[in-house]
Amino acid sequence: MRKLSLLLLSLLIFTACTQAQPEATNELNIYSARNYDVDKDLLLRFESETGIKVNLFEGKGDELIERLKLEQADPIADIFMTVGAEALYPALQNELLADLDLNTAKDTLDANTYGDKWVALTKRARIIVYDKVNNPTPSVKNLEDLSDPQYLGTILSRSSTSSYNLALIANHIQNDGYETTRQLAQGLVKNFARTPTGNDRDQAKSVIAGLGQYAIMNTYYVAAMERSTDAEEVKVAQQLGLIYPEETHVNISWIAKIKDSPNPDNAQRLIEFLLSESAQKEYAERNGEYPALNSIPVSSLLLPWDAFNKAEVDYETLGQHNIETIQLFDEVGWE
Ligand code: FE
Repeated sequence: MRKLSLLLLSLLIFTACTQAQPEATNELNIYSARNYDVDKDLLLRFESETGIKVNLFEGKGDELIERLKLEQADPIADIFMTVGAEALYPALQNELLADLDLNTAKDTLDANTYGDKWVALTKRARIIVYDKVNNPTPSVKNLEDLSDPQYLGTILSRSSTSSYNLALIANHIQNDGYETTRQLAQGLVKNFARTPTGNDRDQAKSVIAGLGQYAIMNTYYVAAMERSTDAEEVKVAQQLGLIYPEETHVNISWIAKIKDSPNPDNAQRLIEFLLSESAQKEYAERNGEYPALNSIPVSSLLLPWDAFNKAEVDYETLGQHNIETIQLFDEVGWE
């Protein structure tokens, strides 16, 4: 068994160390905001299959984008991977990304999940969950329903600083415009059961604990809780009812090659590896994500990819709405 050679350093330490080092040879430098165990294991497998030494630097998506901008004249990273399409617009606008060669992979991907310079690795739907034991026949079909006064005090949500909520609301602005979306968000906030707190898993647990009736969360946490080592999380996952809205917001986790990076061929190999059936299967099985390759099955707690309606979304321009989305959250008091 090979020893873990991934370096998990803060970006600050990384800068200090790399200044004196020679040009990389058979290496691959990855900036990733996909901070999951499954990713680390996949990268180890990539290392052992290819002999390419992987240097992994984890961070938050927006911080890594800032880092890439600072290093643009002399890039260190070969690969950027993140969760959330809202980072795509700034990455493209700042010309941080290189052209990709997707070859035949294109045939198996949804048309809106790749571009010239990026490709989705996985997809995650943002849905409504409820307690199917205590609330067996909910009448709610979508977020618009939940903004009605009859649902006063029933909704659980994490804060507006969550990138998942940012992308959700930006998607509504993209499709319906600012004013319609503001009214929707205003209605939701008025119906909050409590001030937003905790992460997506906490919202699910709180629904089962009876602290509210409906929670907004990502599908992959339902599937991830189902295979948790924590018995309480397993029980919560099994007791959740899932409502896929009539226009379900789906966000992507995506990967790209960095323009003028030191190891472009190795970067290309990694992208091909992560889009392989076996890697995509791991994303589905271990992290509960909908794989970019639709042929791979997902957890039986989730609807199959083809079984629900998705909202229209243009991932390349979603991030254009970031600032007005933050303004909207502020206007409606979504903390
Ligand atoms: Fe997450």
